[in-house]
Amino acid sequence: MQRVPITVAYGDGIGPEIMTATLRVLDAAGARIDPEVIEIGEAVYTRGQTAGIAPESWASLRRTKVFLKSPITTPQGGGFKSLNVTVRKTLGLYANVRPCVSFAPYVKSLHPKVDVVIVRENEEDLYAGIEHRQSDEVYQCLKLVSRPGCEKIVRYAFEFARANGRKKVTCMTKDNIMKLTDGLFHKVFDEVATEYPEIATQHMIIDIGAARLATRPEDFDVIVTLNLYGDIISDIAAEVTGSVGLGGSSNIGDQCAMFEAVHGSAPDIAGQGIANPSGLLLAAVMMLVHIGQGDVAEKIHNAWLTTLEDGVHTGDIFHEKVSEVQVGTAGFADAVIERLGRRPKHFTPVAYAGGAPVAVAGRVSVTKPAHKVLTGIDVFLHWRGMAAALGESLRAVDGDGLALTMISNRGVKVWPGGLPETFCTDHWRCRFESPVKGGSVTLSQVLSLLMRVGNAGFDFVKTEHLYTFDGVTGFSLGQGQ
Ligand code: NAD
Repeated sequence: MQRVPITVAYGDGIGPEIMTATLRVLDAAGARIDPEVIEIGEAVYTRGQTAGIAPESWASLRRTKVFLKSPITTPQGGGFKSLNVTVRKTLGLYANVRPCVSFAPYVKSLHPKVDVVIVRENEEDLYAGIEHRQSDEVYQCLKLVSRPGCEKIVRYAFEFARANGRKKVTCMTKDNIMKLTDGLFHKVFDEVATEYPEIATQHMIIDIGAARLATRPEDFDVIVTLNLYGDIISDIAAEVTGSVGLGGSSNIGDQCAMFEAVHGSAPDIAGQGIANPSGLLLAAVMMLVHIGQGDVAEKIHNAWLTTLEDGVHTGDIFHEKVSEVQVGTAGFADAVIERLGRRPKHFTPVAYAGGAPVAVAGRVSVTKPAHKVLTGIDVFLHWRGMAAALGESLRAVDGDGLALTMISNRGVKVWPGGLPETFCTDHWRCRFESPVKGGSVTLSQVLSLLMRVGNAGFDFVKTEHLYTFDGVTGFSLGQGQ
């Protein structure tokens, strides 16, 4: 049978040890792969390549489209960029999938019955990395959420659930506060859910969702959420299972995919041959399912579960009460290899007959252009003083079809009719709208308003246009408006 080329990086710290062990197990299990090795991490960073990956390595990744990656050590400061973020974004790996499972009683866990998969959006949200300092006091980070981005990740979560026999998908957002961005994610979740009638659905506000995940993780099956929330709750879920060191994860795109352990390069134990290779091995299992070698994946995963319940443990999970023998990295790999073909007795054996989630490429619906009407503009000022005085002075620039309707500070309406108790910074949002409710304005009216604002001596630091889309307001009101 034809071998599938994959790109492999041995990484830093314990990376080479756990990758060697993992590839040995894959080889013994009969994985039909053809690894191509590239260099990433410290050695590349210290050669002055701030991305941590050499330009020529992209050719391998683009050719194989499958990346099995060991952890790397990210140098602090010095303008070095996170290799993970670079690879995810460059290859369009929009879905981060992290299964979190507890392996009690063989691995100590607060919650012995956890089996939850976090599907985290990987490219958007606050991680777009668009930040600005706008005044002496105020800094901002843009949260970008797109309809195609939401559709891709939500559909992926449902496809994953269907392919893996999962029963429920829970969506977590904060749409009671962020009605437009998180609201879109929730809306798309409700829309896409109708295509999967056999799967139960649930929506939770992220704060209570995270709390429940920490206290009743066994209530969850698959969770889909935005980038930042997913980052946080996947660590919560890993922590409650008690097995951060055993976690593997995948980063999936329409064309490429990357598989890695959840943990880092563990420099404190590097070179000692004692690291647990399980995280990377389970990531490799996910890779085998992804490339259509579910048979090999199943064989390895079941042998791994058998090794755990036979009490063959590395030092990080060794516990006198349940462990039989303590082994190092190579010894653990040997133990898994010896058990290839065996099925666990305590744990439920895994079965990967369903295979990988169906490809999602091309399944994002085209967003129909809406009838978009410009109805006003928010002008942000860097200014010091009292709200009432600002309102008074800005009235002077009213005219030519645009009138000041509201001023807010950090989102709270402070004019007209603000309260003296509201704390104000030096960053003011001044909303100008057509005096006719919902009436349209032109770009030249906006430009002449900005000229008048500037000529009146105000320092405007940014503007945001106010639109309606098919008559629906496309901006938030001031808090208290
Ligand atoms: P870490 O995960 O490397 O280590 C945390 C603790 O867990 C350490 O005590 C370590 O010995 C232990 N540990 C981790 N993996 C283990 C394993 N397989 N077997 C046994 N023990 C294990 O986290 P850290 O110390 O915060 O980070 C170290 C370096 O790793 C940093 O440079 C960080 O930037 C990098 N990092 C890389 C990735 C990645 O490449 N995906 C992810 C996280 C951290």
